[in-house]
Amino acid sequence: MKTLRTVDELRAGLNGPRRAGRSIGLVPTMGALHEGHLSLIRRARTSCDEVVVSLFVNPAQFDEAGDLAAYPRDEARDEALAAEAGADVLFAPSPAEVYPRGFATTVVVDEVSAALEGEHRGAAHFAGVATVVTKLLNMAQPDVVFFGQKDAQQVAVIRRLVRDLDIPVRIEVGDTIREADGLALSSRNVRLRADERRRALALRRGLDAVRACHAAGERDATILAAIGRAAMAELDVEPEYLELVLPDSFTPVASVGEQPVLVAVAARVGDVRLIDNDILNGSGQ
Ligand code: AMP
Repeated sequence: MKTLRTVDELRAGLNGPRRAGRSIGLVPTMGALHEGHLSLIRRARTSCDEVVVSLFVNPAQFDEAGDLAAYPRDEARDEALAAEAGADVLFAPSPAEVYPRGFATTVVVDEVSAALEGEHRGAAHFAGVATVVTKLLNMAQPDVVFFGQKDAQQVAVIRRLVRDLDIPVRIEVGDTIREADGLALSSRNVRLRADERRRALALRRGLDAVRACHAAGERDATILAAIGRAAMAELDVEPEYLELVLPDSFTPVASVGEQPVLVAVAARVGDVRLIDNDILNGSGQ
């Protein structure tokens, strides 16, 4: 595996494979790699000839300076893990390479960015995500790009972005990878203290309670959300939001019919902000 730092190096490195007709897969990450990231890299390995993993802690998508400063970074470890999972290239640019002096363009995806994460983290969050993903897609020009279902609204934003801007890439979404007790893997989990790690299970408990209540026949979204909140309260966690929305538009639903409905939750446990989701009437977990 090669580690490349500049856009020129990346383009030069991918020129040969592209000309030879080899398919290119891109797995964007912010590093601190865990099994969630590695599952996406392995999936890319099985479906693409050339696998690029990007490692860039994107300052533009952080709404809290403290969260950016505390974000775990260990490039040597990430390099080893990415190589082991089958990456051919680790693209690890500096902030100045991605945002050179004079950088003045922002990609804003309306509507789907507005609710939930957009509302709670601020509009700059998804603008930061959309801008950096657009840049990464232009830098690597992959045939396939891989994202995790854990960040469901990010997936919806990027699907819209790719469609609206006619970006020639296929999007593949990998299932959420969890700890044995159900906590969704996240780079931020390492910042949970022991008691917080126990309370962090509240997100999964809330989602499970909604799923069970739906399975028992409840269809009213307000009631289902209240059941989820109550299950979280048992672990002394109050969500920033727990809402039932349409998976593509992220608009709220009043009741659950036959169509897939996404149950999305975010909560702060101690200093750490966590998110998770489940899909009713679909391939949720
Ligand atoms: P991040 O480094 O947090 O920006 O995540 C990089 C990619 O890994 C994104 O597409 C995430 O959705 C995905 N990802 C993060 N956590 C998980 C997880 N627990 N399971 C599956 N994918 C994940």
